[in-house]
Amino acid sequence: MKIGGKSMKQEYLKKYFGYDRFREGQETLIDGILSGRDALGIMPTGAGKSICYQIPALMLDGITLVVSPLISLMKDQVEALNQAGIHAAFLNSSLTPAQYRKALSLAGQGRYPIIYVAPERLLNDEFLSFARSVRIAMVAVDEAHCVSQWGQDFRPSYLRIPEFIGRLPSRPVVSAFTATATAQVRDDIIDLLKLRDPLVLATGFDRKNLYFGVETPKDRYAAVKAYLKKHPGESGIIYCLTRKAVEDVCGRLIRDGFAATRYHAGLDDEERRKNQDDFICDRSPVMVATNAFGMGIDKSNVRFVLHYGMPKNIESYYQEAGRAGRDGEAAECILYYSGQDVITNQLFIENNRDNQELDDFLRALVQERDRERLKKMTFYCFTNECLRDYILRYFGEYGGNYCGNCSNCLTQFETVDVTEIAEKLLGCVRTGGQRYGTTVVIDTVHGASTAKIRQYRMDQNPFYGSLGKVPVYRLRQVLQFLQMQEYLTVTADEYAVVKLTARSREILDGTQTVTMKWAKEQVRKPAVAGGGLYGENGAADIENGAADSGGKSGRKKRRGKSAIVPGSAAVSRNGVADGAQPLFEKLRALRMEIAKEEKVPPYIVFSDKTLTHMCIVKPKTKEEMLTVSGVGEYKFGKYGERFLAKIRENR
Ligand code: ADP
Ligand code: ZN
Repeated sequence: MKIGGKSMKQEYLKKYFGYDRFREGQETLIDGILSGRDALGIMPTGAGKSICYQIPALMLDGITLVVSPLISLMKDQVEALNQAGIHAAFLNSSLTPAQYRKALSLAGQGRYPIIYVAPERLLNDEFLSFARSVRIAMVAVDEAHCVSQWGQDFRPSYLRIPEFIGRLPSRPVVSAFTATATAQVRDDIIDLLKLRDPLVLATGFDRKNLYFGVETPKDRYAAVKAYLKKHPGESGIIYCLTRKAVEDVCGRLIRDGFAATRYHAGLDDEERRKNQDDFICDRSPVMVATNAFGMGIDKSNVRFVLHYGMPKNIESYYQEAGRAGRDGEAAECILYYSGQDVITNQLFIENNRDNQELDDFLRALVQERDRERLKKMTFYCFTNECLRDYILRYFGEYGGNYCGNCSNCLTQFETVDVTEIAEKLLGCVRTGGQRYGTTVVIDTVHGASTAKIRQYRMDQNPFYGSLGKVPVYRLRQVLQFLQMQEYLTVTADEYAVVKLTARSREILDGTQTVTMKWAKEQVRKPAVAGGGLYGENGAADIENGAADSGGKSGRKKRRGKSAIVPGSAAVSRNGVADGAQPLFEKLRALRMEIAKEEKVPPYIVFSDKTLTHMCIVKPKTKEEMLTVSGVGEYKFGKYGERFLAKIRENR
């Protein structure tokens, strides 16, 4: 399949998608599929999985069915394909019966090389008879981890995909794609989708352009507000654990003058649609949402994802955080942690009845796995090691121990002997009868005189006040460290009671020395000297606009923001040199104008990255414009001249 030395897949990449080169893994997967082999692609969000099945779909003889779990996901993909000049359609419950029949009839006439379909629909009579009457060249399974009970979004309807495939007159190529798969999930995908000798390709999970941070501010709202103030005009998502928190945070942000909007499952369809559009079209660049928001939103210019509360597992966290910086430009993912988050998540796990298809046995199994996942997520918030490394290891990869672009790597730590603190904390737990939560334990050794301490008579505990000189935030860090090392454990219920473990003895016997890393104390103004980094004066710092240092570890100024223009001193966040900023803004306005005419989100016209690239190349001719990453021939035909004219005006 060569045309003048260039392969057809390369031609298609350029013609339809406007890209010159395949990214890591894409070509291998495409070649595998084209050779008729099943394939499993495991690539992080934003790596470019879609192209791996979309390009073969255009080259194979027959229709490609893409099984996709979410309506919003399908709609977005189909919109993007149509904009690129590729006929595609989706078949799901959002269509009226008349629309559905029309789409099916056009599909029967071979109008669409690519059709997106919901998994529930596959075995539906009407659909099945359509599928049996045409040539299905490939079934591509998107979000393939949904097939596994070990995965975070188990969808039993995925289990019926092989049955559907079995009922086709001839077996198509089967390809599967996911962004998050631990080894277990990987095996499940291969077994349960019955992939035959698949080509398995996992590219690195690392998203180098993302900064990861964990902070524990006393006042989370103040921290978020300070962050937004420092990043005016930028687009980002703030994830909250509950609908109530969404309402609260969004309401306060609007009152404080930010262009924020909200999204959660409790809003009616119309409001959800409208708010989502406002976000996508940058009318409200800040989205406050529960985890119901985001699947299928591939807005490429999301510059930050803040978590106003810890999600239930690393899979969810990485997926949500991964919605930042899809354009490859620098972006930030910060998790604002509070101990209450663990309890909220535990309650979610205990009360989760979402998955109707599970029986009691399966439900108990899933709950157990969820608790284990929550623990790993909690340790992410406690660890002093490289955060990126922690995530990569979770997915079975080994990174370096230092990434230089996370809050831990940018903090100076020192190694300290905490044996005495550990002995006293454990002693307090033991003599208190292992009945109390972390706050009571810490308050006891610190010598606080709260109503609870008096009520529980912990002021008479032999360890009461024995660590009065150690700041509370340090005690908490040591307690968390002991928990990570399994010297003690915290019960997985709403009381979060601290208990001893089999290992506790080593410390209680006085035979074990304990050392840990903690953040070096920062030099502070006298007014706050002696105060903790961890809470006591966090809120005050944040109100002063110093949210960065109000966090868990007082992180240092960030280094090494990526910049496209080498040697340019003044480069703003989007990678455009300050001098080119007016042009960028004009191109952005033109993009908005076109988006309105076409009734599509602006990023579907061209991504931020493509506009940035235009500002650098400043193309004069069609040929030059086609060298810009993201400008394909089809799109050039539609809007190329208008962008050229705008650039010419600004010479
Ligand atoms: P995923 O499904 O893996 O999360 P997408 O398929 O949505 O990622 O791709 C993410 C972004 O990367 C999209 O904007 C896409 O157009 C872009 N992209 C994909 N492949 C390439 C490539 N070879 N060169 C440049 N950009 C690409
Ligand atoms: Zn790091």
